[in-house]
Amino acid sequence: MNAAAIDGLLAALARLPDNVPLRINLAKLLVQAGRHAEAIDHLNMALAIDADNAETIQLLIDASTALSMPRQVGEGSPESTGTPRSQGAWDFDWHRAEREMGDSIPAPFVENDPDGDPQAISLSGEGAGTALFDVDRPVVTLADVGGLEDVKTRLNESFLEPMRNPEVAKAFGKSLRGGLLLYGPPGCGKTFMARAVAGELGASFVTATMTDIFDKYIGETEKNLHGIFQAARRAAPAVLFLDEIDSVAAKRSALSGGVAWMRQTVNQLLLELDSMDAQNDGLFVLAATNQPWDIDTALLRPGRLDRMLLVLPPDRPARGAILKHHFSSRPIAGIDVRKIAARTEDFSGADLEHVVTSAAEKAMMESLRKGSVQPISMSHVNEALKEIQPSTRTWLQTAKNVVEFGNANGSYDELGQYLRARKML
Ligand code: ADP
Repeated sequence: MNAAAIDGLLAALARLPDNVPLRINLAKLLVQAGRHAEAIDHLNMALAIDADNAETIQLLIDASTALSMPRQVGEGSPESTGTPRSQGAWDFDWHRAEREMGDSIPAPFVENDPDGDPQAISLSGEGAGTALFDVDRPVVTLADVGGLEDVKTRLNESFLEPMRNPEVAKAFGKSLRGGLLLYGPPGCGKTFMARAVAGELGASFVTATMTDIFDKYIGETEKNLHGIFQAARRAAPAVLFLDEIDSVAAKRSALSGGVAWMRQTVNQLLLELDSMDAQNDGLFVLAATNQPWDIDTALLRPGRLDRMLLVLPPDRPARGAILKHHFSSRPIAGIDVRKIAARTEDFSGADLEHVVTSAAEKAMMESLRKGSVQPISMSHVNEALKEIQPSTRTWLQTAKNVVEFGNANGSYDELGQYLRARKML
């Protein structure tokens, strides 16, 4: 029944390739049939046409999560015979992977006119006028990021100090090539941290969200990607922040089914990373993902995004610092930040911000009712807390499965340590 419906939808889509609702329906049926990799292909195609479709994005997250869940031995599904999951940078056969990629994929985009205007090629065809990236010069520094002391220390040692002292780094044989991958649950400060790195280096911050660069015209996505790297080079010294990197650099196993243009995009990204020389270009790449286990491992190869940093939900002192920061510009009375911090385990930084803005809204409504300014009090916060759930738990659950079943090479040891300390493992 399902198979016939799938075939019917495939035939319809062959005639109407841009029909997003049809493609979403097909993806749903494929998910029901356990064909997650194919569903992901179709959802990515739907996103290429309508990047903001919340339903597509949610389905993509669900299908990717299902795909990344290791199966029990003997559990059959069309995907269970594919490439082993969660291979890490350490046991990956780079040569084989690149041989496999080599022939079937057209050459990456190379600009004919290297002095051409980067803005011109960084704007996507139809939607010209919509910038694919933002450039600014952040004033935030690591001191503005609440908590996350371990991450800050590691960021300093592995990235900032070598960048500030290239000669010393060279003497100790430390390569300045390659970028850094920040991973962790959504809303916990990856973007904020990346901005702070730019602030620390006094560099421009060029940010691009990978789903925005997809273009339905063959070859345009690579051009967009190349345009963004070129624009970042012009803005040097610059930190180029590639958010949602998993959406463009999904595992090749997840891209089976001949989505050549998608693989081409991965190829282009590898080319851009390989042609980077941080010291000369003054270009530093930071990428972020909520789903590192879905990333093409070729991206984690030495010289590419070869350092992974885990950005965890804020601990209690960090929650206090984040709350304080958000309360600081608002009228308050009798707010006990420590008490709120104690009651908000697993809340992300973004959730905490939401608690404060929601409490502020309640105080404002009360002020309007009473006709006089009512500062934010603990009762407003308590009301807000009843309505807001911590958003990191689903992520932590997926992470637990990855550590339990897919951490053979130790890439997720740090995550494992955290989950054990939290008694989740
Ligand atoms: P991510 O990139 O991990 O999804 P963001 O960096 O966009 O998360 O965080 C969302 C918002 O939450 C930030 O703009 C900031 O206001 C707040 N936030 C998150 N983590 C922190 C933190 N550690 N310190 C201060 N604010 C934070």
